Amino acid sequence: MAEPDSALLSLNTATVRAQWDLPSIIDGCARHNIRGISPWRDQVARAGLKQSASRIRDAGLVLSGYCRGGMFPAVDRESRRAALDDNKRAVDEALTLGAPCLVLVVGGLPKDRDGIIRSKDMHGAREMVRDGIGDLLEYARPAGMPLAIEPLHPMYAADRACVNTMAHANALCDELGTGLGIAVDAYHVWWDPDLQQQIERAGNASPSRLLAYHICDWLVPTTDLLNDRGMMGDGVIDLPLIRSWMEAAGYRGMHEVEIFSADNWWKRDPDDVLMTVRVRHRDAS
Ligand code: ZN
Repeated sequence: MAEPDSALLSLNTATVRAQWDLPSIIDGCARHNIRGISPWRDQVARAGLKQSASRIRDAGLVLSGYCRGGMFPAVDRESRRAALDDNKRAVDEALTLGAPCLVLVVGGLPKDRDGIIRSKDMHGAREMVRDGIGDLLEYARPAGMPLAIEPLHPMYAADRACVNTMAHANALCDELGTGLGIAVDAYHVWWDPDLQQQIERAGNASPSRLLAYHICDWLVPTTDLLNDRGMMGDGVIDLPLIRSWMEAAGYRGMHEVEIFSADNWWKRDPDDVLMTVRVRHRDAS
């Protein structure tokens, strides 16, 4: 399999968030010749929206996405309305930053205002997600900001995302129409027996639904549900194979490295992390 194009490497800023603030991450990407970046809202808020947009532009970087909107389900109507309003602000920020899409982590079972899950109604949660995305599309579509559903691994179904497969994300795209696509994160979907077929389905849609591609690796054992992701090459995901499926389906976008790693990569010298990201993108992705 051919090596990935090094110009397509992008850094999800969560990968070095423990060590650096956003301005330092932007400078680090420029220093390590990583041309893509995908910042998180909290980091942008701390660094300032306009300042972040111009710093990214001045460093010669392009966005591969903006993280993130979503979290639609809630126990009461008012909270769902507040979530929608917050998502509209995320769309506005994504536009200011020049992001190609706003990534959606759609939310799990409905929570109350203290963040406690108050329902076991998974079907109802999925209806809230569909309705929430539909409402947000009415705002994002005319603004020209694509929304990218990121299906998460089913271990997050209760608390983060009740869309857990590419098939479910494709079905939502079928139902809700243009302006909606998918962020394919290998960490979340590598295990899916239908993955190749569902990537094809997303790529064959017109326009293509393949809006983003996130990579890292699945460690065995995984010691933490959230913050124990591996560097490419350190785990069991056949990343070159999944990339070949993305490319065969017409995806030409960036390869965004997204690693949450409390006990390993977040403890290392961030310059070493970025050097390793570059090498492993070439050799193990
Ligand atoms: Zn991701």
